[in-house]
Amino acid sequence: MRKKIVAGNWKMNMTTAEAAALVNTLKADLANFREVEVVVCPPFTALSTVSELVHNTHIDLGAQNMHWEKNGAFTGEICASMLRELYCHYVILGHSERRQYFGETDAIVNRKTKAALAASLHPIVCVGETLQEREAGKVEEVITTQVKGSLAGLSAKEVLESVIAYEPVWAIGTGKTATSDQAQEVHALIRNVLTGMFDATVAQSVRIQYGGSVKPANAKELFSMPDIDGGLIGGAALDAKSFIDIVRAAV
Ligand code: PEP
Repeated sequence: MRKKIVAGNWKMNMTTAEAAALVNTLKADLANFREVEVVVCPPFTALSTVSELVHNTHIDLGAQNMHWEKNGAFTGEICASMLRELYCHYVILGHSERRQYFGETDAIVNRKTKAALAASLHPIVCVGETLQEREAGKVEEVITTQVKGSLAGLSAKEVLESVIAYEPVWAIGTGKTATSDQAQEVHALIRNVLTGMFDATVAQSVRIQYGGSVKPANAKELFSMPDIDGGLIGGAALDAKSFIDIVRAAV
């Protein structure tokens, strides 16, 4: 049985004070909630504060990015051990905004994924097609390439430590959600790709989240699809009530 996982990607939002207020509201509701794995991914500047606040709760901490090297002359970057020091257990990698605005390729995502796993962080590896690619009938090709490229060279044990997030680029922050059937189709495709790369047992065990304009109103239907194991939530994660409702929709 795959345990559902709902993660909030706060992106470049929330001062430390705002982050503390949001997480305190989440804690009041979710501190002892065990049915679904709940992860919050604040910006780097709020990680330390949020880490202290979620200590001894069932809310887990994630970061939104990291560098693949262990240390060194990489001005402005953060490495895996710095995240571990703050008790981060997850890190989002290859988000479409990183791919689009910061030139991240599958090869880069792959290096980061391996570095995260080597530091005992669970990578949340994002894949997804653009609208143009969907309209050109290239969903299968694009997703297959991204999954194979991002997870290349991982062992079965390592992929089982990872989470995949299917996030159609056209659905992120646009208010346009994939229908539950569209999302299910791609999640099943990802499991097929994983079967080819590893085996059917591994493919059935890896958790695959859906992301892209998930809201309380559409979460239940999406999360009830057989291959959807929760969500990666952007905009709606900034509002405590919306995020809590989405988490509870995953039960
Ligand atoms: C995201 O950025 O991961 C995301 C899914 O954003 P939103 O929920 O705002 O579409």
